Amino acid sequence: MLLISLITEQTFSKIFYFIIDELRRSPGIFIGAFFYIRISEISKTTGAFVYYHIMKEIKEPCRKIIHIDMDAFYASVEQRDHPQYRGKPVAVGSPSKRGVIAAASYEAREYGVRSAMPSVLAIRKCPDLIFLKPRFHIYKQISVQIHRIFSEYTDLIEPLSLDEAFLDVTINKKNLKSATHIAQEIRDKIMDQTNLTASAGISINKFLAKIASDINKPNGMYLIKPEEVDTFLCELPIHKFFGVGKVTAQKMNNLGIYIGADLRRISLEELIRHFGKTGIYYYNVVRGQDNRPVEPSRIRKSIGAEATFYNDIVNDDILLNHIESISEDVWSRMLRANVFGKTLTLKVKYHDFTVNTHSTTQSNYIDTQEELFTLAKRLLEIRRFPDKPIRLLGLSVSNLNNSSVTKEFEQLCLNL
Ligand SMILES: [Mg+2]
Repeated sequence: MLLISLITEQTFSKIFYFIIDELRRSPGIFIGAFFYIRISEISKTTGAFVYYHIMKEIKEPCRKIIHIDMDAFYASVEQRDHPQYRGKPVAVGSPSKRGVIAAASYEAREYGVRSAMPSVLAIRKCPDLIFLKPRFHIYKQISVQIHRIFSEYTDLIEPLSLDEAFLDVTINKKNLKSATHIAQEIRDKIMDQTNLTASAGISINKFLAKIASDINKPNGMYLIKPEEVDTFLCELPIHKFFGVGKVTAQKMNNLGIYIGADLRRISLEELIRHFGKTGIYYYNVVRGQDNRPVEPSRIRKSIGAEATFYNDIVNDDILLNHIESISEDVWSRMLRANVFGKTLTLKVKYHDFTVNTHSTTQSNYIDTQEELFTLAKRLLEIRRFPDKPIRLLGLSVSNLNNSSVTKEFEQLCLNL
């Protein structure tokens, strides 16, 4: 007791944060309560203070998320394996009329060549562009290799593609406290084992980690500390927000929104009025709020939303309103997951619980909200029983760009 009363406030806070850290590893109300009882023996006020902070930490533990992204992956692998292409503008993909660039080397990027760009346009920008056939079996092998490195630290790994993944290292297998340290170790190991560079973003959630990994690319990393989140987001140009495409950025500019601080000044109601349900997403992320967990080994096959009605519906106008709001919902989910699809499926459950589905497949990815809604409307019009009351409507998008990319490019190569 005597010893405890001699502890200075500074030492006390050090011990306190040490205990908090330990508690994060094995959180639980009972531990918190037990600690409260012990500490209240010292002083009631200190006890309450400590208890409040423990409970706050247990409820909202600050997560440590890393986003790892290989630099110009396919192109870098080709330059690694073919020294004659090093230092030259290289594109992986097909130069054919309908070809698309899968990856561009940094030399090619200097000419303005980007991945997903039509090859015809890329050639116009860089006439000396060297086209190489993708070798997906090699990329997959490397992907397995880097995945193995990630799993030395955590099992909470969410791959976004062959060369990109989120890692939750809040609790990690090596008991390392610094996520920055972990990111550095991972990048070093990737270099050692594959002779390729990766960039990393480190922060408190997926949205911020993803933006951070782009900042010091290539071969760099960036940490957005919890206390820096506000300033960082306020100063961030609007087109850099994950999920804000060209069209949305233009729309935001027209509303006087150029940086995060401008976006913050807009009320939730106004954002919803202009951007539908996606407005909620913008409202949250600009405040650094993104609670999506890191979901291990899940490659999405489809993305969708549905609504069950309180009363069965026959009226076409009411159904149309519902399909509009469901398509808004699906669109905002697509943005958040960063996936687009070619197939849209409408699910209709009638009052007698019979279910019908209708699908349409496009040759290109459905990549605007308007297109999604127009297709959904069309599907609703061709439903089989126009007079039967409906109790549920659902929309889902499949044939997504996350899993089919590989197949498509393999197909493209066969066509060469
Ligand atoms: Mg990459």
